Amino acid sequence: MTLTAARLDRISPSQTIAITSKARALKAAGRDVISLSAGEPDFDTPQNVKDAAIAAIARGETKYTDVAGTPALRKAIAARFAADHGLDYKPEEIIVATGGKQIIFNALLATVGPGDEVIIPAPAWVSYPDIVQLAEGTPVIVPAGQNQGFRITPQQLEAAITPKTKWLILNNPSNPTGAAYAPEELKALSEVLLRHPNVWVLMDDIYAKLAFDGRRIATMVEVEPALRDRTLTMNGCSKAYAMTGWRIGYAGGPLPLIKAMDKLQSQSTSNACSVAQAAAVEALSGPQDSVAAMAAAYQRRRDLVVRMLNECPGLRCATPDGAFYVFPGLHGCLGKTSAGGARIGTDEDFVIALLEEQGVAAVHGSAFLFPGHFRISYATDDASLVEACTRIRRFCEGLR
Ligand code: GLU
Repeated sequence: MTLTAARLDRISPSQTIAITSKARALKAAGRDVISLSAGEPDFDTPQNVKDAAIAAIARGETKYTDVAGTPALRKAIAARFAADHGLDYKPEEIIVATGGKQIIFNALLATVGPGDEVIIPAPAWVSYPDIVQLAEGTPVIVPAGQNQGFRITPQQLEAAITPKTKWLILNNPSNPTGAAYAPEELKALSEVLLRHPNVWVLMDDIYAKLAFDGRRIATMVEVEPALRDRTLTMNGCSKAYAMTGWRIGYAGGPLPLIKAMDKLQSQSTSNACSVAQAAAVEALSGPQDSVAAMAAAYQRRRDLVVRMLNECPGLRCATPDGAFYVFPGLHGCLGKTSAGGARIGTDEDFVIALLEEQGVAAVHGSAFLFPGHFRISYATDDASLVEACTRIRRFCEGLR
């Protein structure tokens, strides 16, 4: 008898987490490794947020809360949605979960079943297709390469929709590319969606506050309020407030969907950590200047990394609009052999040899359903980035 259930065979372990753990283990074993694999801010959680958590502990806020989150946090989230995007979610139309990942997990598990299709533009974050498959749905991958700015067109969306389509997942700006849809591009996609009332929209805005060059990132319901009744607007504290370990994700959506997610969560984790929720209230309603400061640092690092990567023979790196990732193409490196003797047939060969020979951990593009590329997270200090890019250049120059 096998230990695991058949549903486990439908998914693979998260590659971003697997490579990050491997880099951590190599470092612990004494290897000189620079890890650019995890999508995790290097900044510390802002002090006002930490203080709010300590105060919550002192007040004894250490007990269960409502499954969907404390009234104070849901109110703060509603106010944030209103201030950032002019959205009018009521606190009861909001749910808090243990990280953005659990929001997506709850939404898809609660609504997707056998035969349902979920449209996922690629490159795509590693976990979307796996969660869809866990829910017994079918991911429908729509590729959008560097030549189209890593953004799908309305025509591509129209062609991907069938009577079985349940959701479109949009990540804006995107992990792993950092590409963002402009408000008018979202509007053009919304026009397609308005013609297909069976399609719901999962708007993953987790990186929306990390936007560059003066851009403001809009969300779907803001550009097309008529989609409000079939859109889940999700966000979280991890990326914008450097709070990955606190595990706070949240979403606003129509009441029947929020209730369905609440029901599922009541049978799994119950509420998100009460202390982390108190910290999130401060993050969302306290001063926002640390967000702007971190976004400015990411923009400076983006410029550094894009410039250095484009100096590497065989790589081609587009300039991202937001988030803290770059996703260079490495076609010019394929078919060659590294200085250490590794044959580089695929993007996965490339990242393995790069880690072995130069001690730089990155994630291969095929993990994001887009081979021929690799992802670097530049949410790390400038000196490490310069050293890492210098090593990548050395690696590329060594290919024969
Ligand atoms: N979202 C981050 C990443 O892409 C964190 C790890 C994960 O959950 O995938 O690296």
